[in-house]
Amino acid sequence: MENITKAFGTFKANDNINLNVKKGEIHALLGENGAGKSTLMNILSGLLEPTSGTIRIRGKEVTITNPTVANQLGIGMVHQHFMLIDNFTIAENIILGSEPTNTGVIDYKKAYEEIKAVSDRYGFKIEPDSLVSDISVGMQQRVEIIKTLYRGADLLIFDEPTAVLTPQEIEELIDIMHELVAEGKSIIIITHKLDEIKSVADRCTVIRRGKSIATVDVAEVTSQELADLMVGRSVSFKTPKGPAHPTKPVLKVTDLVVKENRGLEAVKGLSLEVRAGEILGIAGIDGNGQSELLQAITGMRKVESGTVEINGVDMTNKRPRTITENSTGHVPEDRHKYGLVLPLTVAENMAIQTYYKEPISKHGFLNYSVINSHARQLIEEFDVRTPSETIPAGSLSGGNQQKAIIAREIDRNPDLLIVSQPTRGLDVGAIEYIHKRLIEQRDNGKGVLCVSFELDEIFNVSDRIAVMFHGKIVGIVDPKETNEQELGLLMAGVSLEDARSELSNAEKQEGVGAHE
Ligand code: ADP
Ligand code: MG
Repeated sequence: MENITKAFGTFKANDNINLNVKKGEIHALLGENGAGKSTLMNILSGLLEPTSGTIRIRGKEVTITNPTVANQLGIGMVHQHFMLIDNFTIAENIILGSEPTNTGVIDYKKAYEEIKAVSDRYGFKIEPDSLVSDISVGMQQRVEIIKTLYRGADLLIFDEPTAVLTPQEIEELIDIMHELVAEGKSIIIITHKLDEIKSVADRCTVIRRGKSIATVDVAEVTSQELADLMVGRSVSFKTPKGPAHPTKPVLKVTDLVVKENRGLEAVKGLSLEVRAGEILGIAGIDGNGQSELLQAITGMRKVESGTVEINGVDMTNKRPRTITENSTGHVPEDRHKYGLVLPLTVAENMAIQTYYKEPISKHGFLNYSVINSHARQLIEEFDVRTPSETIPAGSLSGGNQQKAIIAREIDRNPDLLIVSQPTRGLDVGAIEYIHKRLIEQRDNGKGVLCVSFELDEIFNVSDRIAVMFHGKIVGIVDPKETNEQELGLLMAGVSLEDARSELSNAEKQEGVGAHE
């Protein structure tokens, strides 16, 4: 791809990009959210036409006007959001649009045989008869892969393929990729995860704000160098922070019991306290009641028994708005469902907690010049990358959606900030930025409650770490006095006392010191 430019209006999502992929290699496309990676690959797979630039396949200049032309050129794309039809079988999805026919009738037998052959060759273990709605996300991805292979792809494009997979599935996918290139196929993988690039890719092209910055041999660069290239400055994986100066409690949860959707207890008599001027991190494996806990505190789920006190006022089973008004900010786990209204503009979303108040509205009328100028100010201050404040929030990249939510919540200056998975799916630059803002809140004397499944994140931001297991806090530790092993044991339900003696025994046996 030579000098590829793609403009949306006056905004250039791709600005003179060069990308060169060799046969038989795994080539990573690295860039922050919104850098222009998907746009570039949508051009290569015929979904978008470039504004200018040249594409050559095997040396020959081509014009890829639609996905069928891309298929004919041997290009297939496995999209970030799968494009399968739920109530069709695997086989029907795979052949859709290129059905083999025998005197005008779809030849299912032939289709099945071909699909089975592809599936067996790569050890995919799929059942062509299963409905797509009945299979796991990992399996759906395999169906997408087979779909491209079935159409004869020899250049496969994967758009952030591991974002939706479990660690086990990621390993299997990496094996599949290695097998594909061993057969002479070529792969482009879009990702912003540096460790993934190190483990799978041969070369990497870095895209930053629509421009191709560099192409490097992966073996010759460190993760730190890749991160710096991607972000355009030196990024730190560890956010610097001074000691906390906690004062009075802003959140007090006592003997809380909350049920999950099926009516079983998810939070089972939990107590905790968050003080002004500290970040309390909640570590734990997904599904131990973290979501229900935060929903109960923020008024989104019923409290069965126990109490929630915010700023000294009883907030148990109060409406979300009452809780919000009592100086609480919330960055929810599911940013699409609870954080934003995707079809509304970025500016409207930024006003969605305060729209009923002056100056955003007056005498029951929204004042759009205030809404939009307020949003422009937050966009600037929180580095939300968007061409304008008047586009739908749904068209921002994930990282920028998250920054918009954090901007809205912090702007209200709440005494208590509750965040859940604040950086899930984000790239290192955005992660660093969000961690900084959380620590800044703490330094301004606010209390922060942060739930995360990422231990790195927990260690990075927390002043105290509470470990949640089976609906209870099983231990509260000082990040300076614990390590990942100990937290791992606590997260698996081992008591702090047992965890410490287990680890010190192991240490004595090995004769080595504990490591961070
Ligand atoms: P990446 O995949 O690197 O996260 P994208 O290629 O999806 O980034 O997007 C690059 C930029 O182009 C983003 O700022 C995005 O908002 C913008 N963009 C993408 N598609 C469109 C579109 N159809 N109309 C307007 N802007 C778009
Ligand atoms: Mg993308």
